Amino acid sequence: MDQNKIPQATAKRLPLYYRFLNNLNQQGKKRVSSKELSEAVKVDSATIRRDFSYFGALGKKGYGYNVEYLLGFFRSTLDQHEVTEVALIGVGNLGTAFLHYNFMKNNNIRITTAFDADTEKVGTDIGGVPVYDIHHLEEKLDDIKVAILTVPAVEAQVITDKLVEKGISGILNFTPARISVPKHIRVHHIDLAVELQALVYFLKHYSLDKPE
Ligand code: ATP
Repeated sequence: MDQNKIPQATAKRLPLYYRFLNNLNQQGKKRVSSKELSEAVKVDSATIRRDFSYFGALGKKGYGYNVEYLLGFFRSTLDQHEVTEVALIGVGNLGTAFLHYNFMKNNNIRITTAFDADTEKVGTDIGGVPVYDIHHLEEKLDDIKVAILTVPAVEAQVITDKLVEKGISGILNFTPARISVPKHIRVHHIDLAVELQALVYFLKHYSLDKPE
């Protein structure tokens, strides 16, 4: 099917659905209701039904959705049949945590290469991932198209420029810096400090209804 037809908001929820369905499948479950799904992934069931209708999965009343059919769809849509290799730049506290984090548990994305400027870290192996000198980015990045940025904010743009020059397609930016890239490159920005601050602000000023 034409994947451009899937709205971006729906596409963003696909990995969430995929993870949950994968777990269900491993438990041997054959079907799932939109209500069950809704409670597990915290997306309202009307949205789930609309999302699923984009890929031709129409739930049957009293039956729900076929887990295997959905998983097959997600696997091909999310390119789960092939491993996507990712590079990590900046092996500090956050970067090290990512190298130890087992992304493979639920999907086929894997950090295979890391870079740092610190000579103490270069040449080591963290969580099974070799750490290379940032000066060797040129030759060691290979065909990798996705990078995670966990360097200090002041270094973010310079590194980004190098990644762009090397042909990167997407960057997951964990630095507080707002980086500039050419239009054809996708940047997703996750600023943990800002997210935390927003949560604390919301807790203070927008109280949620307590259950009776
Ligand atoms: P640590 O305590 O290990 O320094 P941190 O997360 O507090 O961790 P940061 O100063 O945020 O440290 O730096 C993150 C990592 O980015 C460090 O490992 C640092 O060596 C590395 N780094 C700094 N500048 C560059 C650069 N230009 N290219 C690649 N890596 C860099």
